[in-house]
Amino acid sequence: MKRSVCSGCSLLCDDIMVKSDGIYIDEVFGACLKGKEKFDQVTSQNRILSPLIRKDDTLQKASWDEALQRTVDLIKKSKKPLIYGLSNSSCEAQLKGIELAKLINGFIDSNASICQGKVLDNAVNSGITLTTITEIINKADLILLWGSNAAESIPRLLNKVLFSRGKFRMTGREIKTLIIIDPVKTASFNTMGVRDVALRITPGKDIELIKVLKEECCAADSIPSEGVAGLDKDDMKRLLQHLSGAEYGVIFVGQGLLTPQKNSNLINELLELVQMINIKQERGRITLAMMGGHFNMNGFDHVALSMYGKRGNLHFKDNQILETDENIISKIENEDFDCSIFIGTDPISHFPMSLSSKLAKKPIILIDNRNSATLQLASIVLPTTITGIECSGLAYRLDHIPIELKKIINPPSKIPTDEEILNQIIQKLKSDGGN
Ligand code: SF4
Repeated sequence: MKRSVCSGCSLLCDDIMVKSDGIYIDEVFGACLKGKEKFDQVTSQNRILSPLIRKDDTLQKASWDEALQRTVDLIKKSKKPLIYGLSNSSCEAQLKGIELAKLINGFIDSNASICQGKVLDNAVNSGITLTTITEIINKADLILLWGSNAAESIPRLLNKVLFSRGKFRMTGREIKTLIIIDPVKTASFNTMGVRDVALRITPGKDIELIKVLKEECCAADSIPSEGVAGLDKDDMKRLLQHLSGAEYGVIFVGQGLLTPQKNSNLINELLELVQMINIKQERGRITLAMMGGHFNMNGFDHVALSMYGKRGNLHFKDNQILETDENIISKIENEDFDCSIFIGTDPISHFPMSLSSKLAKKPIILIDNRNSATLQLASIVLPTTITGIECSGLAYRLDHIPIELKKIINPPSKIPTDEEILNQIIQKLKSDGGN
């Protein structure tokens, strides 16, 4: 029985016990259902075990050599390749992805750019007060889930941060207040106790709430009598009192806040609000944490920063970084690509129809370990290992702490890792005379 890290989500729980002989996984202890599903993926029905190539409009099994040659031929024909995904890959694979993008003068971006990357974009202007899971466990007395359904998206998060007893506190859950701001009564509401505050906000009105909180800046006496954004005056008062009176508060920013809202820079307003509260705070401070979904959502930014001093997407021309305002959405919207390489992601399912239909018009190379809607439209599919179970690698937890993932068993059919596949493509392109 060995202690392992779960790569089921960005919490990267490092207290999972796995019983294995190195060939099969016999038992997994301590993982939530989502984590257990990740381990079950090893033998799942939708696992891809062989390379696939589209012939006569159907995907057919192919040898590695043939699939690799077809991949390289497709990339060599491409003038504007797009590389996207990599949030379910190790940092080592992300590094190879960037190396490939540079070699083929492509545009590379990770899933983070449509998720918590938006928060970091704004932090460049207004600064950000981040925190770590350990700090939250040890110090927090206020946990605010804003637009985030932690109970289902990161199932063990509340176990760790809400129901735990901190190092510097004699008390645990009983002194911690949970506030949830969400238009939907999610499963996370079921974890609330009598002292907690459930705020069912009107959909799309988060920006109004933030603006009023900023205007009042912790002055509860001038809240509009009719309330704000579907919250009544008493709710607003309680929210303000908790935000301004917490010794150590953390706001978990969820996907609900990151969904675009018309004519607003909601994240910027939120960062400014946190700054204002912290300036006024006499007792403690408010911090932020982001709820990335995929296990290495943060890794790509760290790798890009370490290589090019730039986070987010990277655009290469003449094998050099090109300064651009483009992002993955504008690239697809403007159809400014002629081939896409997706790694560990399913954009055909996740993007709106208007974007996925544009992706489907151009050849798709997919590197993944499971069947998906993107696979059904791909020209070439290269199966890969499951990182954290069948191969080792580095990943950054949701609080930007690096965590080492260790291989537990060998992959079936000697399937290569993301890193190895990307390296094979790079080496073949180089030996064939570049792009
Ligand atoms: S919370 Fe996430 S990392 Fe932890 S066991 Fe569940 S899926 Fe795995």
